[in-house]
Amino acid sequence: MTERVYIGLGSNLADPAEQLRDAIKALAQLPETSLSGVSSFYVSDSLLPGQPRYTNAVAGLDTSLDPLRLLDGLQAIENDQGRERLERWGPRTLDLDILLFGDRLIDEPRLKVPHYHMHARAFVLYPLAELAPGITLADGRALDDLLAACPFEGLERLSV
Ligand code: ATP
Ligand code: MG
Ligand code: MG
Repeated sequence: MTERVYIGLGSNLADPAEQLRDAIKALAQLPETSLSGVSSFYVSDSLLPGQPRYTNAVAGLDTSLDPLRLLDGLQAIENDQGRERLERWGPRTLDLDILLFGDRLIDEPRLKVPHYHMHARAFVLYPLAELAPGITLADGRALDDLLAACPFEGLERLSV
């Protein structure tokens, strides 16, 4: 069975927009997976002080991989693009998070879906809304309600 999955992409090191473009090519090459869409890129200040600005986007995938195999694939792409885990929420060449996986609620040690903090992150919600306007999350929350509670302020949408 193929399921629609949304991936949040983020980078704030080593030419972030190029990191995102490379990651999108790599996502499209994952086994049993096709790319269904990519949002605009958005730039915003880091939530933590003293880090370079972030570039973020959301990609839609159709995949028949199971969720943990997809997570393995995403972590391999992060590692290929030089991801180092020195400190929690430290600067990174590439972060790939599973935001939504079909209608599934996943609560496993390695994987929580919907992504636990997406509701508070404008740099996730606004690009997701480009690909999936009006969607309802598997936990019943409406994307439109999350957007209404999360101002666009501070995001800069890059022209494509
Ligand atoms: P945040 O989770 O706040 O966005 P982060 O993306 O920087 O922080 P990472 O270092 O990329 O955090 O990931 C830490 C761990 O989070 C991963 O090893 C992974 O097992 C786990 N994880 C849990 N849920 C998810 C998810 N939905 N997508 C990706 N990783 C997840
Ligand atoms: Mg993240
Ligand atoms: Mg992550």
